[in-house]
Amino acid sequence: MNQHTLNSTPSTMDLDAIRRDFPILSRQVRDGKNLIYLDNAATTLKPRQVLDVVYDHYAYGASNIHRGVHFLSEEATKLYEGARETVRRFINARETAEVIFTSGTTSAINLVAKSWGRKNVSAGDEIIITHMEHHANIVPWQMLREETGCVLKIAPINDRGELDMAAFESLITPRTKMVAVVYTSNSLGTINPVRDIIRLAKVHGAAVLLDAAQTVAHTKVDVQSLDCDFLVFSGHKLFATSGVGVLYGKRAVLEAMPPLMGGGDMIKSVTFEKTTYAGLPARLEAGTPAIGGAIGLGAAIDYIQKIGFAAIADQEKDLLAYATGLLSELPGIRIIGTAAEKTAIISFVVDGIHPHDMGTLLDAEGVAVRAGHHCTQPVMARFKIPATTRASFSFYNTRADADALVHAIKKAIEVFA
Ligand code: PMP
Repeated sequence: MNQHTLNSTPSTMDLDAIRRDFPILSRQVRDGKNLIYLDNAATTLKPRQVLDVVYDHYAYGASNIHRGVHFLSEEATKLYEGARETVRRFINARETAEVIFTSGTTSAINLVAKSWGRKNVSAGDEIIITHMEHHANIVPWQMLREETGCVLKIAPINDRGELDMAAFESLITPRTKMVAVVYTSNSLGTINPVRDIIRLAKVHGAAVLLDAAQTVAHTKVDVQSLDCDFLVFSGHKLFATSGVGVLYGKRAVLEAMPPLMGGGDMIKSVTFEKTTYAGLPARLEAGTPAIGGAIGLGAAIDYIQKIGFAAIADQEKDLLAYATGLLSELPGIRIIGTAAEKTAIISFVVDGIHPHDMGTLLDAEGVAVRAGHHCTQPVMARFKIPATTRASFSFYNTRADADALVHAIKKAIEVFA
């Protein structure tokens, strides 16, 4: 456990107890510095409650799922399918058939672009994305453009890093087949007005995919209330392990999608002449999945639901306001991404210090942040910068973490003065 004091916050959660759930927070790095982990947008830390179930699966329950008749296989299948039900409840999907386990956000978007895209998009049809997409929601659509001759339209953003909604609306036409947007930007922190986006897309009958990779760990997502066609996220950004993620899709939309991968577990029957496919969700989950990962994802969801999104939002809102206030006072700093609706991500540049150098100097103080383009090179180009340093917070972070960040930035500024 870190020894630093936990400043008072408006949150009702027991931060000391919560921090003890994350073994890694007791680590020291760089010559005995307490770890200050502010790289949650890259990946979140994992609580014991997740690590234990993953360990238990591999230590005492390792088995393949679905095909086995023995005890362990039945048990693992039950846990895996139980995790699917946990995800269903978490995002309020109508049925578990609408929850497809993937290896992450990237593979989920690629599945949609390649399977749904090839079936539904032809030359001249339009896909709309935004200027703030992660590369995972750009490149698959460019690949589809190569294949089909469709048109990729980019909705612009303003200087605060907010989507220009009037421009977005003017891009939608009867030829728009898909609107694929990031719910919460990983490099700017912007939370997009997804309900308005969905409403506008529906006017022209376009499908909507929401990249919720940076959303599901911070706020309740309800796919029925949103009425999106697809929603995708990664387990590793939701306190679970890497290698597991989710594609939610409406049943009718998923049912019309040809499987992208063929193989075990996705078939009803196979002869050399003809293969028939299984129903959802198996049809889109060929091969052995990340069984322990999915079970861990279920445990991660149980864990954060016990804390509750109300307490999580209070804590993260406080951290964002507190850290933004402190950072804004530093000389030569420019915060990139100042949207009115923002998650607890702060990207910044400081005059005369390359973001990578800043990242290295912060690391020397035990402060883990991200430096780079954050897989959003078009955002960097939009703001005419090569990169940013990014601090991203989670509910287990404290005001003391923000103080440590600011202290380390001040030291870096002194080094370069
Ligand atoms: N979209 C967003 C908004 C992200 O932040 C990320 C991860 N940085 C991804 C997509 C890709 O996620 P993954 O690498 O887990 O597939």
